[in-house]
Amino acid sequence: LPTLFEPARPVLQKIEAAGYEAYFVGGCVRDTILGDSIHDIDIATSAYPSEIKAIFKRTVDTGIQHGTVMILDHGTGYETTTFRTESGYQDYRRPDKVTFVRSLKDDLKRRDFTINALAMKEDGTVIDLFNGLSDLQNQIIKAVGNPEERFHEDALRMMRAVRFASKLDFNIEDATLKGITDNGELLTKIAVERIEVEFSKLLLGLNPPKGLQYFIDTNLYQYCPNLINYKDALQKLADAHNWSIIKNKQQAWSVLIYALQLTDRGQITSFMKQWKLPNDLINHVQKVIKLVDIIKQDHVDNLALFEAGMDAVKSAVIVAKFFGWPHHDLVDQFDRLPIQDSHQLAVNGGNLIQQAGIKPGPELGEVIARLQRMVVNEQLPNNTEVLIQTAKRIIEKG
Ligand code: ATP
Ligand code: MG
Repeated sequence: LPTLFEPARPVLQKIEAAGYEAYFVGGCVRDTILGDSIHDIDIATSAYPSEIKAIFKRTVDTGIQHGTVMILDHGTGYETTTFRTESGYQDYRRPDKVTFVRSLKDDLKRRDFTINALAMKEDGTVIDLFNGLSDLQNQIIKAVGNPEERFHEDALRMMRAVRFASKLDFNIEDATLKGITDNGELLTKIAVERIEVEFSKLLLGLNPPKGLQYFIDTNLYQYCPNLINYKDALQKLADAHNWSIIKNKQQAWSVLIYALQLTDRGQITSFMKQWKLPNDLINHVQKVIKLVDIIKQDHVDNLALFEAGMDAVKSAVIVAKFFGWPHHDLVDQFDRLPIQDSHQLAVNGGNLIQQAGIKPGPELGEVIARLQRMVVNEQLPNNTEVLIQTAKRIIEKG
């Protein structure tokens, strides 16, 4: 068993010693069987939250109404969730009601896909009540139970199916795929934030072209914010071969926005806002697209690199590589800049006020910007004395 499980084993043993059942469940079991690394572990138990709290001295109620309690043990937190069934789903998303149950099978039955419905005992024994092991072996994503019903209960599961197809490089089983194709419209009931999480994970999976092809072929893309008119651009992305160079969400969204040919700041902002993406990501993508535009015109000057900043330069190089243009070595060029961000300038507002006699105000900002530009363009050394003298001269000239 991966080492991440080791410190959790005594926690499961303690729950069992008190007369309840406890298992590792979900993604950590799936990924362990696949031989993939795991980042967190989930524990499911027949004990009710009050019973868990009676067994362990230190717990935190992280989501007690859903049955989740965090057990604190030797400085680590372990999320345990009581076996539960869900009912209601009147709005195609959250269940109206969760009911705690004592049966593992009932808990696994409500999970989305067979590969996510495996449980593992503390000693490593796998409990496979829905054929998840053979689906893992055959690399298949298959809904637990009737796909149609399961997607009506929670439409986000359709996005999760295409996300796992990409993440794991698996195929979607026929009936499950039909369930998605027939019910895509239900996705409009789901909060955009939750769709975005799955879509971003799709872009960062093991095989994004596979996930994207399902996303296109099932028409799911039509029910995501603002993608309905971009089938061709999405298809180009699904046909691209260089996805493995993309390492993070900033790079993934930069490539996507570039592929959609959104170049104008306003267009980029409005598209990304509809996806409810955070402002820092929007700003990043704007810088990248601006830089990419300059890269395409061949010569990139120091100032453009400086203004973009290191992260945006890295993403722009990824975009250039992804679309197969020459990009020289912009990261090297960035590394050679005399200063890489404004904090490295050898003077600041305080110096200039005290030593160059400039008054605080807009003029001060302009002087700093000019000094910065000259240093970046190697017209001036980044030296306090020189910069103060230059500032004085700028002021005298008015
Ligand atoms: P990841 O490695 O991306 O975290 P994961 O399988 O752990 O993958 P989570 O979203 O963390 O995915 O969910 C944990 C588990 O909870 C899943 O493996 C699945 O059993 C169950 N689950 C999560 N979301 C749903 C859902 N919408 N419907 C049914 N079951 C779900
Ligand atoms: Mg998880």
